[in-house]
Amino acid sequence: MIEPTEFRRRLLKWFDRHGRTSLPWQSHRTPYRVWVSEIMLQQTRVSTTIPFYRRFIRRFPSIRSLAEASMDDVLHHWTGLGYYARARNLQKAAQQVMSKHGGRFPRTLEQASALPGIGRSTAGAILSLSRGQRHPILDGNVKRVLARVHAVNGPANSSATMKTLWGLAEQYTPRTRVADYTQAIMDLGATVCTPRNPLCGDCPVSRGCLARQNGEPERYPGKAAKKSLPERSTTMLMVRDRDRTAVLMEKRPPSGIWGGLWSFPEHRTSDPDDLRRWFRREYGFAIELDGDAPPIRHTFSHFHLTITPVTAHAVGTSGGVMEKGDTLWYNLDRTEKRGLAAPVKRLLDQLRTDS
Ligand code: SF4
Repeated sequence: MIEPTEFRRRLLKWFDRHGRTSLPWQSHRTPYRVWVSEIMLQQTRVSTTIPFYRRFIRRFPSIRSLAEASMDDVLHHWTGLGYYARARNLQKAAQQVMSKHGGRFPRTLEQASALPGIGRSTAGAILSLSRGQRHPILDGNVKRVLARVHAVNGPANSSATMKTLWGLAEQYTPRTRVADYTQAIMDLGATVCTPRNPLCGDCPVSRGCLARQNGEPERYPGKAAKKSLPERSTTMLMVRDRDRTAVLMEKRPPSGIWGGLWSFPEHRTSDPDDLRRWFRREYGFAIELDGDAPPIRHTFSHFHLTITPVTAHAVGTSGGVMEKGDTLWYNLDRTEKRGLAAPVKRLLDQLRTDS
């Protein structure tokens, strides 16, 4: 077993030579910049995150600018990253920082982790990376490293495993060079102690790592109990106007799946007669169906969704649905500044190619 002091010494020495120091959120490390990066990185790889992060920070350079922006603008800058609750919570939290903390990111772990979308580990990472405060963190990378070094093989995310790992994280976090240590252990998990094929030969803590000694590092941490996800289905109706230059879209309710994003009218079946009747009743004008596109399958954290896309166009003399706050004719020749879920963006791109 490796002593915490020795673990830290070797890890920091490795970090000084191999750690990542030029990621965009590592320059000018304010709590806000670190916060945005930590939220984006929760479900997204570093290389994918970088261009989104740059665009987001350029558009919303401060907590105030994010708090005061329209939700459409925020979601538009999140389009393509997925897990949109992250963006909605980020803005909600920015508004709370403005109203409850005078526009400054909170100084204590308790206050920071009370903000929407910020858990104990994220709060610890923000405060340690930007202010050098001593707080342990336990993101996916850190969990993996600690579970392997100590051969903790209970199911990942079970409360017993989490309790053990939080205890280890607390024990290992140093009193000095906290920001470097936090970055170092995250980097080790991301670049050396990877989920598959860890590079134990290059690892600074390999001597003393129990998982390596056991010869099966990938066994740790144990797999989370697998839950089978229910299946759901929906039909998305892509209705073009009479000139076929725009498509009808509507804004989803602010909470729930794809909350606040723009999508196509949805119906429970793709039966043509039912669709036409339902559409006329709901939107007040007639459509002619053009055909189906191949179904799209999208997996959420708690169910699978099969989307049947159906294309259609407006007919008759009706002027069609009037644009209101939550309905619009989306011009296919322009990129409108609206937040779109990934499958909806894909369908829009398809419509552009086909027209
Ligand atoms: S020795 Fe291998 S398994 Fe152990 S921490 Fe290093 S990379 Fe991970």
